[in-house]
Amino acid sequence: MRSAIECPICASPKAKSLYLVKGADVVECYHCSMIYVPIPAPEFAKNNDSLGYYNYRSEFTSHLMTFNKRLEESEKYLGRMGRILDIGCVLGHMGEAARRRGWDVYVTDVSEFTVLEARKNFGLNGFISAPDKLAVKPGRFDLITMYDMMEHLSHPLDLLKDVRKALSSCGILHISTSNAQSWSAKIMGRHWYHLKPSEHLLYFTPETLRSCLERTGFEVLKIKSICTYMRINDILLRLERYSKKGARFLRTIARTLGISDWRVKIFTGEMQAWAQPAGIRKEQKTQPVKDILDIVCCSNCRSEIQLFEESEAICTQCELSFEVVMGVINFSKYAKHGKQKVIGSS
Ligand SMILES: [Zn+2]
Ligand SMILES: [Zn+2]
Repeated sequence: MRSAIECPICASPKAKSLYLVKGADVVECYHCSMIYVPIPAPEFAKNNDSLGYYNYRSEFTSHLMTFNKRLEESEKYLGRMGRILDIGCVLGHMGEAARRRGWDVYVTDVSEFTVLEARKNFGLNGFISAPDKLAVKPGRFDLITMYDMMEHLSHPLDLLKDVRKALSSCGILHISTSNAQSWSAKIMGRHWYHLKPSEHLLYFTPETLRSCLERTGFEVLKIKSICTYMRINDILLRLERYSKKGARFLRTIARTLGISDWRVKIFTGEMQAWAQPAGIRKEQKTQPVKDILDIVCCSNCRSEIQLFEESEAICTQCELSFEVVMGVINFSKYAKHGKQKVIGSS
């Protein structure tokens, strides 16, 4: 585990301050240029409040357009469809977009609420992850997507190593994250909308993203900017952050012109990367699976886990017992089998 100040990528303790945002320092590593927030990982904000996702939910149609476009591009790299895992699934909109295209879909998130919502609303299969870990058996997925979640991590290398193992040798990883070298970042400086040190601990550039992927055994196929589809009204709502009056005035104009519901493609200072497990090897097919137990493994020792009654999944090796809630395994809540008390929130 890295100490409070160490660079999360190269472990160097030397960094220079870039911005001070709401009392939090954002620094750049002298050694590898990674931009990060040098604090111990804060407790993940567990947003179990459906109100917090009201805006996200209302943007479902725009999300489908965005994710369709992304899947279409990934399918070109892969040459086919198959089994997908969406890490950081929020309410399952990405999973649903993939399901509608014909993918075999699995989702995961550190938030219990969002995984259960994805299951309830779209019937998606999934599990709840412990932060910075992926409890998945090797070679299970053709495509793994991580949209807007890398910036939340405190140990990106640990998670990326797990992701590489979870992919089949011919599988693809598709990432999106903010680009600290985008024009919006350069123009807006410390007022850049992606700078939120309380939520976003990492700020990648194309170079540091590439370095992270290469350090964890990936070969980068492509890095380029990424677009998002949004309703004009939703774009203007976001501008209220800078000027309430100005944004409201523009919303009135958009309503008058009847263009509030138009969806447009915008670039928001984010980039995307496609990568595949590095090295020449013989084509190893994605492993067949029957159910979720063929996919997940113990997050502690990576052994098989078995369902025990309705509310427990137990590791056959280290005998940790993971909570199961409405059929969904929660790897962040575990205890020693037979003990009632939850001893860990890993
Ligand atoms: Zn560094
Ligand atoms: Zn175990």
